[in-house]
Amino acid sequence: MRVVLVGAGGRMGRAVAQTLAGAEDVTLKARVERPEVAAPVDGGAPWGHDLGAFVARGDVVVEFSSPAAAAAAAAVCAECGAALVSGTTGLGDSEEEGLRAAARKTAIVRAANFSLGVLALRRALATALGAVPASWDVEIVERHHRGKQDAPSGTALQLAREAAERRGYPASALRMGRSGRVGARPDAEIGIHALRGGTWVGDHAVVLAGAGEWLELRHVAEDRTAFAHGVLAAARFVATAPPGFYTLDEVASAAAR
Ligand code: NAD
Repeated sequence: MRVVLVGAGGRMGRAVAQTLAGAEDVTLKARVERPEVAAPVDGGAPWGHDLGAFVARGDVVVEFSSPAAAAAAAAVCAECGAALVSGTTGLGDSEEEGLRAAARKTAIVRAANFSLGVLALRRALATALGAVPASWDVEIVERHHRGKQDAPSGTALQLAREAAERRGYPASALRMGRSGRVGARPDAEIGIHALRGGTWVGDHAVVLAGAGEWLELRHVAEDRTAFAHGVLAAARFVATAPPGFYTLDEVASAAAR
C-alpha cells in the first residue's frame, strides 16, 4: 500500500510516518506540508506543498493538518480516486460537508480519535449509561497540550453527542464549561471542560455522578502511537473499500471478522 501524508511535519504527521515505517506492507510515497515548513533533511519520502502533484503516487492519503487542508485533501482524493484517512478535528459545517460530498466518489475513513482505547471507552460508556440510573449526571473533562487549536476536543464532543443521543437529550444539551451564576444544573445537560497545558497528548474522562456516588471512565493517550496504530488499520481498510464515509467502528468490525 502506497501512502501520501498531508501535514507531515506536524506532531501527528511525524508519529504516523514513524508507525508506517515499521509496517512491511506500506510505503510512504510523499509528504505534503505548508510552504512555511522547511523540509527535513532525513532522506525520507519526497516533500512538497501541493497534494495534487503527489496524489497519484498513493493509494491512500492520510491527513492530520488543518480543517481547510482536510476539506481540500478530500476534494483532491475524490477527483483522483485516492482513498482518504482524515484525522483533523475542529472542522466547520462546510468542511464536514466537503468530506461527505467527496465520500460519494471515494472511500474516506474519518475519526476524531484513531485510538483503539478510545473506541473501547465509547463502547464502555454506552454500557455504563445503560447500567446506571438515568438521573445520574454526565460530565466530560478533557486535557490536551498547550498547542491544540480547537476546544473542546473532537473526541469530547463525540463522547458527549453519543451520551446525549443515548439519553434522548437534544443537541443543545451540550454545555461548554460553566462560569458565573449559572444556577442549579438541569437534568438534561452534559458539561464539557477543556484543560490546556504542557504536553498532554490526549486525556478524556467521563464522569457519571449520582447521589452519594460517582463513576469515572477515563482514557489517557501517553504518546501519539496510540492514534497511529488506528490510522494504519484505517489505511489498510480504506485502500480496498468502495466509495463511502466510514468510521473507526467499521474499521474495527472489519478487522475482527
Ligand atoms: P500540528 O499543528 O502539530 O500539525 C499539523 C500540521 O499540518 C502542521 O505541520 C501544519 O503545517 C500542517 N498543515 C496545515 N495546513 C496544511 C496544508 N494546507 N497543507 C499541508 N500541511 C498543512 O497538529 P497535530 O497535533 O499534528 O494535529 C493535527 C490535527 O489532528 C488537529 O486537528 C488535531 O486535533 C488532530 N488530531 C487528531 C487525532 C485523531 O486521532 N483523529 C489525534 C491527534 C490529533
